[in-house]
Amino acid sequence: TNPSHHAWKKAHTFTASYYHHLLLNTVEGEEALAYLKARGITEEIIKKFQIGWSLPRWDGLTNVLKQREFDLDNMEKCGLIIRKDQGDSFFDRFRGRIMFPICDDKGQVIAFSGRILHDSTEDAKYMNSPETDLFKKNEVLYNLHQARVAIRMKKQVVVAEGFMDIIAFHRAGVENAVGTMGTALTQQHVTHLKRLTNELLFCFDGDKAGMEAARKALEATQNDRQLKRSVIVLPDQADPDDFLSVKGPEELQQFVAEKGLSEMSFYMLYHRKGLNLKQDSDVLHYTNQLLELIAKRASPIEQSLYVKQLAEDTNLELEVLQQQLRKLLASRA
Ligand code: ATP
Ligand code: MN
Ligand code: MN
Ligand code: MN
Repeated sequence: TNPSHHAWKKAHTFTASYYHHLLLNTVEGEEALAYLKARGITEEIIKKFQIGWSLPRWDGLTNVLKQREFDLDNMEKCGLIIRKDQGDSFFDRFRGRIMFPICDDKGQVIAFSGRILHDSTEDAKYMNSPETDLFKKNEVLYNLHQARVAIRMKKQVVVAEGFMDIIAFHRAGVENAVGTMGTALTQQHVTHLKRLTNELLFCFDGDKAGMEAARKALEATQNDRQLKRSVIVLPDQADPDDFLSVKGPEELQQFVAEKGLSEMSFYMLYHRKGLNLKQDSDVLHYTNQLLELIAKRASPIEQSLYVKQLAEDTNLELEVLQQQLRKLLASRA
């Protein structure tokens, strides 16, 4: 192991508590605190997720790290600060952002993501620490360390996209939720999760990007026989946090408990998007796509079930669909 990792971890632990302190206890943090409260985030939640605030200055954290005698060269390597023009001086990476510490599965802070206070087209909404030996975005899941016990107990993990979504689930009593932080679900993510459970419930944003993320997550896991996967599609393009704001915690909890779609039901919804099943050409297109999927993926019992659903969906005769499916299967054999 790299000896500088010890200092990186120490610095991240320190920095998380520094940002957290700024948010909760200082005048400089007041606007950010008001922003979070307006989004329904209480001080209790702020503490639970150790949310913080970075000063809108170039040398806020840099000065404090220097005072505490952290080696600034090393601090630059772990991404907390940035070197100025190849020289010997440094400036803060995160400035004027709400800070979400990102932890490894033991709860050690290894990175940050910072959210701007006022949405604009100029700045990216979220900014992350750079990738390091300690922080690999395609391995880390937000909140895994805190969700671990609940995942084991419920024998299921809810996988969502964003920081605020995981916090929304927490507010709704859904403690077994982790976040991909906007990236695709990877094999490494799955490996981590499978140590805790084999049941994955994808609950990405209800918008187009979220639907794509769900489809990709299903595809990435389709050959893993041990996994049981289902998908929640939230209405009106909402993400879990939007849903919570509009409908409240009970409804979010209930929706997640009851509205999980099987893989094939999700694909039906996915391929129906934007089509008008009163039009022949759309019906043909939809039917062909679904039959392909049914032929490829499912057991005979599932095939029979889904062909029935498809017949109901399209008002086509069951017999005709079954015939078409047999033809497809024969052409594959
Ligand atoms: P909010 O509710 O605070 O507006 P969100 O989580 O709904 O944010 P999305 O645009 O849906 O924001 O993005 C989902 C997740 O993807 C974010 O929570 C964040 O983890 C990640 N993400 C989004 N934009 C960026 C970015 N520019 N750089 C890195 N990660 C990002
Ligand atoms: Mn989104
Ligand atoms: Mn979102
Ligand atoms: Mn959101």
